[in-house]
Amino acid sequence: MKQHKMWIGGKWVSAQSGETYPVFNPANEEIIAELPLGGKADIDKAVEAARKAFPIWSKKSQEERSQVALKIAVMLRNNAEELGKIDTLDHGSPTKMAAFAAGSMTSERFEWAAYNARSLMGHTVPIGPETLAYLQREPVGVVALITPWNGPLQMVVSKLAPALTLGNTCVIKPPSIDSLSALKLAELLDTLGLPPGTVNVVTGPGNVAGEALAMHPGVDMVAFTGSSETGKEIMAVASRSVKRLQMELGGKNPVIVLDDADVETAANEMFMHQFANCGQLCGSPGRFYIHEKVYDLFLEKFTAITKKLIVGDPNDEKTEMGPLVSVTHRDRVENYIKSAVDEGAKIVLGGKRPSKPPMNKGYYVMPTIITGVTQKMKVAREEIFGPVAVFMEKFNSDDKVIEMANDNVYGLAAWVWTKDIARGIRFANEIQAGTVWVSTGFPGGPELPWGGFKESGIGREGSLYGLYEYTNIKRIQVSLMKPK
Ligand code: NDP
Repeated sequence: MKQHKMWIGGKWVSAQSGETYPVFNPANEEIIAELPLGGKADIDKAVEAARKAFPIWSKKSQEERSQVALKIAVMLRNNAEELGKIDTLDHGSPTKMAAFAAGSMTSERFEWAAYNARSLMGHTVPIGPETLAYLQREPVGVVALITPWNGPLQMVVSKLAPALTLGNTCVIKPPSIDSLSALKLAELLDTLGLPPGTVNVVTGPGNVAGEALAMHPGVDMVAFTGSSETGKEIMAVASRSVKRLQMELGGKNPVIVLDDADVETAANEMFMHQFANCGQLCGSPGRFYIHEKVYDLFLEKFTAITKKLIVGDPNDEKTEMGPLVSVTHRDRVENYIKSAVDEGAKIVLGGKRPSKPPMNKGYYVMPTIITGVTQKMKVAREEIFGPVAVFMEKFNSDDKVIEMANDNVYGLAAWVWTKDIARGIRFANEIQAGTVWVSTGFPGGPELPWGGFKESGIGREGSLYGLYEYTNIKRIQVSLMKPK
């Protein structure tokens, strides 16, 4: 078991209180590390360091910062295997996918930011011959990055890449249970000779270190990914000093399979999205609405593939789905399953923990399919964030299913499966979500924006819109009149 330190002002330090907390391997419940229990005093130090570094880092040329971003991309690729192992150890990511997610998917975020930041232009505005009016983009300042556990390194990098590349300095508060990859990233960054305090990582509990960071008057922007409940709390405390906010929050994403869909493809694709990362993805399907004419066929195919899913030790190359991230989260997922049964839904697959060793230890829940769910049930309204597919009652009207899909506080993503492209586009236009996939499961990369409508968030990550989030627009007007 390793004792870790945090990275503040370019130094590796313990919490000022001297306290630590344990983190667990979700696959066997063993303690794997002790981390500093960061609090307000540590956040104060980190923000102070980031403020000091800001005038230095923000005044470097964009070319220089982009070169640094490209070096980070290379380091991430070169260390993909080790980073993947960390995600397997503290998050339970199956080793099969972990290196790709922690290495390739993160390095492309830095590459995208590095190349595109160099052509992030402002505008001139034609207000007349006597004045030159132009708009330029500038870094926002000190950015707090508060991230969730469900993609421990990816979530940090999807914010750090644009923020850092564009000249902001950063204080990262990673998820307390999954901070090891953020600390490894800091170790890699430490070799680059950045001005001390350009990036800081403070470990510790969200309601202490996270809240202190979100409300700190020295922070100009909070970029947050996590639950909508925490997002609202952060917005409330951040409002005291009117900070810029970028919020990637929860989802309850509808999947609509129409009567003319390619059922086989839809079932295969949606199965992968449902159980990837043990269902712990904001973009996982949240509710399946299947047309009555194809309902039985879709359910049969979906169930048949799900039965073949290999659940097991995430270190095993064959494993496709590992454990849930923590004991608390497993209890939460199990409570949702129980609530569905209590409210009259039916479990057609799973619903239990596995009993076979080695899965008799660890936070496993078997892939679960629930049918007969109605709009009012808890599992139809709230985000489960686990390996649980929720099948709503059959539908037979396009208008009605659009109404039901939109009848939720979230608006992150949706899928529509149909062979009629015009019908698919009509659905895409009507559905209240930041992303609508029509007859495709292809997730896309950093060139596309990601973010939510309604309680799913504010702002976008990825694409040029995602870069703009980390800049301020300044209007400059200059007289062109000859001096008298
Ligand atoms: P939480 O909202 O519980 O936590 C997210 C982060 O916020 C963690 O670092 C947490 O610290 C911190 N935090 C907790 N309370 C506070 C507070 N009062 N003030 C400041 N920071 C705080 O989310 P989870 O980690 O449970 O992640 C799951 C959620 O994230 C799901 O709702 C999911 O949909 C959402 N998500 C959204 C995505 C999107 O792109 N829209 C992508 C991925 C996830 P600590 O770890 O110590 O609790």
